[in-house]
Amino acid sequence: MTLDAVLSRIDADLPQATERLLELLRIQSISTDPAFADHCQTAADWLVRDLQSIGITAEKRETPGHPMVVGHLEGDGPHLLFYGHYDVQPVDPLELWDRDPFDPQIEETAKGKVIRGRGSSDDKGQLMTFVEACRAWKSEHGALPCRITFFFEGEEESGSPSLVPFMQENAEELKSDLALICDTGMFESRVPSIVTMLRGLLGEEITITAPDKDLHSGMYGGVAMNPIRVLTRVLASLHDDQGRVTVPGFYDGVHELPDDIRSQWQGLAFDHGTFLGDVGLSEPAGEQDRTPIEMIWSRPTCDVNGIWGGYTGDGFKTVLPSKAHAKVSFRLVGDQDPHKIRNSFRQLVRDALPADCEVEFSGHGASQASTTETTDPAFEAARVALTNEWNVPAAYVGCGGSIPIAGHFQDILDTTPMLVGFGKDDDQIHSPNEKYDMESFHKGIRSWARILDALT
Ligand SMILES: [Zn+2]
Repeated sequence: MTLDAVLSRIDADLPQATERLLELLRIQSISTDPAFADHCQTAADWLVRDLQSIGITAEKRETPGHPMVVGHLEGDGPHLLFYGHYDVQPVDPLELWDRDPFDPQIEETAKGKVIRGRGSSDDKGQLMTFVEACRAWKSEHGALPCRITFFFEGEEESGSPSLVPFMQENAEELKSDLALICDTGMFESRVPSIVTMLRGLLGEEITITAPDKDLHSGMYGGVAMNPIRVLTRVLASLHDDQGRVTVPGFYDGVHELPDDIRSQWQGLAFDHGTFLGDVGLSEPAGEQDRTPIEMIWSRPTCDVNGIWGGYTGDGFKTVLPSKAHAKVSFRLVGDQDPHKIRNSFRQLVRDALPADCEVEFSGHGASQASTTETTDPAFEAARVALTNEWNVPAAYVGCGGSIPIAGHFQDILDTTPMLVGFGKDDDQIHSPNEKYDMESFHKGIRSWARILDALT
């Protein structure tokens, strides 16, 4: 059978595949630090050569920042695009690493073999799972089962400044039937997962001014309005007793979960006791009629991220301040419109201002949530393929954070993103001693082979 031969080839070639990954991990492609710009070029060159060694037409494409790597392999059937990033996070504090972060090694641990080194999980190891699956397929059958475009970025860890312009300028070339993105993890490190919901983000900074200068509370206290009093009242009013956000119209565009997703999530047996216990908490603080997993993945939030004003230094000063400030952010879901919510939030604050107070706002980003419809049969095919590889029912999951690339594929290329990844919770990405489980690497490669087989 076609697939069996590819899977056997993957198993047999694992030592060589590991060697190739170690080579890539030795390149110090830290994107945020200009001192490592040459290393980013080296990593891009390495990937171009590696893709070419499989017979893929690949080239380095310069941008104002670090280069992209784009490769094409013609073929019949659907056109798939694969995205990963070759840049990594800085390594400091270096003294907290047990080894040189760029001298990666295979280590035996209590939980099995791991590949230790910066970028092993985020994202070089994950990126190579797909490349190795293609290599095995090609060497077994001489050709891949469909047309594939490879798209590797070198600025993901530093805000992706060149990504949107590059996608816009090369939209025709990158447009495809499905964009596979490998930069996420497995639910609770054991359930293979396809991320279909990413929350959006809206940030607002408020400054409330009452008197036009700082005053002495002995002289003015009682008669002068204190802006901290106004600010705290407004902030306290943003949630009701049930944990719902009170900004008018806030829940417009928030949808109920489809039944199939709801039952999958119930089956995940998420233990919020452990999740909260790990950070010294016990009670979920969101909407009281929602499960904790809904609160994180499919419900919108409002959080005060910072609040300051008056005197906060050592000792004491009986100041009655002129200004009070806060930073407030909203995680958004479904079709919530960040601009409408911004306006509604600002109106709520203005309506709460007593006489003699003024407010100034400054916005900090506004991105809509992205939800991937799983109606395309490719999703169910990939889910079954993952289930078969891991012997655990794969799930469509949400992600509380934001992964902007997914939205860009949708908005700029009109291409549906499918996020599949094999990272685990203890991979320590962005931290010292980053690792990728050998199991993730090996089964990750096999998973892509199964997904390619299922999609073609
Ligand atoms: Zn990443």
